[in-house]
Amino acid sequence: MKKFSIFVCLSVFLSVAAFTQMQTRPETPAKPAPAGAPRAMANNDATYVALRTIQVGTENVHVNNFTLARDAGTFVFKSGVFRLLQPVNGKITGAVFTGDASFALKPPIAVEQRYLGILTKGQPFQEEFGSAVFRFTDGTEQEIRKAAANDSSPATGDAGGLLDDVRQQLRKKLKTNLDARLLADVLSSKQGGMFIAFIKGRKYSDKMIYEIDPEGAMKPDEIALTTWDDTHDGVWAAFHYSNEYKAGTANSDEQNYRFTVEHQKLDATIERNAHLNATAETKIIALQDGVRVLGLDLYRTLRVESVTAEGQQLSFIQEDKDQDADFAVILPRELKKGESYTLVTKYGGKDAVSNEGGGNYYPIARENWYPGLGFGSYTTYDLTFHVPKGMKMAATGKKLKDIDEGGENITEWTSEVPQAVAGFNFGRFKREEGKPLKQPYLLETYANPEPPDIIKSIQMAAEDNLPTTGSHMPVAALGTMSTLSLMKKAMAEGQIAVDLYTDYFGEAPYKRLAMTQQTAPNFGQSWPGLVYLPITYFFDSTVRHQLGIGEARGYFKVVGPHEIAHQWFGHMVGFNSYRDQWMSEGFADMSASIFLQVVYSKNGLDEYHKFWAEERQLMTEVNKEGKRPIDVGPVTLGYRLLNAKTGFDIYRRLIYPKGAYILQMIRFMLYDSRTQDPDARFKAMMHEFTKTYANRIASTEDFKAVLEKYMTPDMDLFGNHKMDWFFNQYVYGTDYPTYRLEHSFSNDANGDWVLNMKITQSDVGPNFAMAIPVYLELSNGKIVRLGNAKLLGSNSMEQHFPLKGLKEKPKRAMLAYFDDVLGNVENK
Ligand SMILES: [Zn+2]
Repeated sequence: MKKFSIFVCLSVFLSVAAFTQMQTRPETPAKPAPAGAPRAMANNDATYVALRTIQVGTENVHVNNFTLARDAGTFVFKSGVFRLLQPVNGKITGAVFTGDASFALKPPIAVEQRYLGILTKGQPFQEEFGSAVFRFTDGTEQEIRKAAANDSSPATGDAGGLLDDVRQQLRKKLKTNLDARLLADVLSSKQGGMFIAFIKGRKYSDKMIYEIDPEGAMKPDEIALTTWDDTHDGVWAAFHYSNEYKAGTANSDEQNYRFTVEHQKLDATIERNAHLNATAETKIIALQDGVRVLGLDLYRTLRVESVTAEGQQLSFIQEDKDQDADFAVILPRELKKGESYTLVTKYGGKDAVSNEGGGNYYPIARENWYPGLGFGSYTTYDLTFHVPKGMKMAATGKKLKDIDEGGENITEWTSEVPQAVAGFNFGRFKREEGKPLKQPYLLETYANPEPPDIIKSIQMAAEDNLPTTGSHMPVAALGTMSTLSLMKKAMAEGQIAVDLYTDYFGEAPYKRLAMTQQTAPNFGQSWPGLVYLPITYFFDSTVRHQLGIGEARGYFKVVGPHEIAHQWFGHMVGFNSYRDQWMSEGFADMSASIFLQVVYSKNGLDEYHKFWAEERQLMTEVNKEGKRPIDVGPVTLGYRLLNAKTGFDIYRRLIYPKGAYILQMIRFMLYDSRTQDPDARFKAMMHEFTKTYANRIASTEDFKAVLEKYMTPDMDLFGNHKMDWFFNQYVYGTDYPTYRLEHSFSNDANGDWVLNMKITQSDVGPNFAMAIPVYLELSNGKIVRLGNAKLLGSNSMEQHFPLKGLKEKPKRAMLAYFDDVLGNVENK
């Protein structure tokens, strides 16, 4: 039920007031849908209407001490009455309970127990309630009937009012069309497996939902406990079926879709005013028997006119754009597992793209401007775009055609491999072309010399504020805001990064990369073969300085390399769910550090060290909610860590830098300074990872399995050839250790230098293990790695390490010189 928009990007914290208005876009007020032909088949399927308007029926069941177990959740109904809802298609889909009851939950896995424990302040989770609304397709009514007590007194409580309240909340607050989801089970000849309880809790929240859905209550997890009131908004627990853990089959490779999208043929026209009209030919394949309703992700303001298949018009669902606007198609018959089916959807609307002035357009609907399964469902695409003449289009895939016809520019694009998403950027762009030194790649840069309206108004406001002379003319105008000169920077970054990342991570499949300007000032985004860079990237440092954004903590050095690295992580290798997105963002961020190491090398590793210091700062600085991001939860909880209590900046402050550190530590565990290419083993591991998972999704566990093939004996801290220790501590855990090195040099009896050192590990639990790399800076400035010091728990070790054959006294010894250990490292 919880929905997150997922895309791969890098944002910066800009605090400039003038920019904040650019981040909030005004909503256009709703207009009544036009009556008549175009939406004749919308929202009027008889079974759907019956679900949509369902009422409490006449069957009442009194219960006493009735226990209802649903996976890890247990309801105890001490006393009260269930009022079953009216049957639809002969099926009972819900009941309203009033009386006295409780609900307890114990997640089947430790990481979820721990997280839930934080929210309940260490108490076992138990909620008391006097009423709840249940919806189900799993036959719950039969269990209720079996529990019937001998009591014929009339039911009390306003069951109809409770049902209606949930209905209104779903539409207006949760914006989820539960009726469309229930319809899929009601119309299917197969038994459904859905169970959802809207609990009016007394202790934690009166807006609590316990949900079990075989399609994923919180994909890929089938089970979730969530709340939706403003102060407790969030996902309290999510996990797979308990029996999957018992059987050892639970893993984050699961997707739980009923069908996949195999191919999309999209033809879109975007008018000068940014109105989008499109036809989508979507070929799907059923993954199970009994598929009747197809739920597809489509941006809410893109209104469906018609859906046709096999020559006939189909019924579809898409409610008001400001309510539960989920799009779903009702098929005339059930599909069998493996059967394919092609839908043609005609749709259009405004507000999916915005006209920003000056020939700048901003795509608002990013991954759902066409009906599909959202980001990460790998599909092939054929795209045709019609945009006003004079605009240049840069889309995902290989360009097949680019012509002007009448008042339009028409381009056609095809994907040569399945893509996680399809997207586009267009405007009155200037285009430049180049190629990397080594890789056979087409590199393009696109920028619009004319600023969007918002930049013009900032420019004018800035000029108004400048000191004026007697003639009221500003003494100094802002620098010209031309974006063209920095197209060269984008090109150069593309040239270097494509070669560098191909060497480190293997060949990416796209063979083309367009670096394009977007109006947003504060984030970049990556698409297959296409990158959006924030408009501020294209401003020179004078203009940035005048706008008060400066270098924004090195952001403008890393946003390009970060977004380019997403070609490998996020696109070539996708991520399955919110639990794995840390790999996409973390690996892209870590790739940016390799770029800094290689490119900004004038002052040695200064820029590189600065980058990692910044990453640590992001994780350990207390945010305005009073939390250190590193303590809030493990990276595998992804978006779930964001809420009103932890702060909505947690994602950017934890997932990116910690994900980067995880890969960084792996890089240096595999590092071997004795070989010609110290990164050779790391590169081989990454090449295997990207090759194995090219053009599809990978999970955290998939990555771990590849790593375990390449781990060295030094990494095998527990002698079981597993990286469990590392993943438990850093990926599934929240530790942030402190390391301290005290050292001196002396001479032994032979006159050789000896390193005397004491290494302390603290702020960790008793089972926390680490092999801390110890480095030496020689008298000539060269850095060598001496080896690793192994420590368990909060502990110290002292050692006298003979440096045989070393003639001159080393300058110093250091721990984690390459910022290769996550934690607070103090080198004395
Ligand atoms: Zn990113």
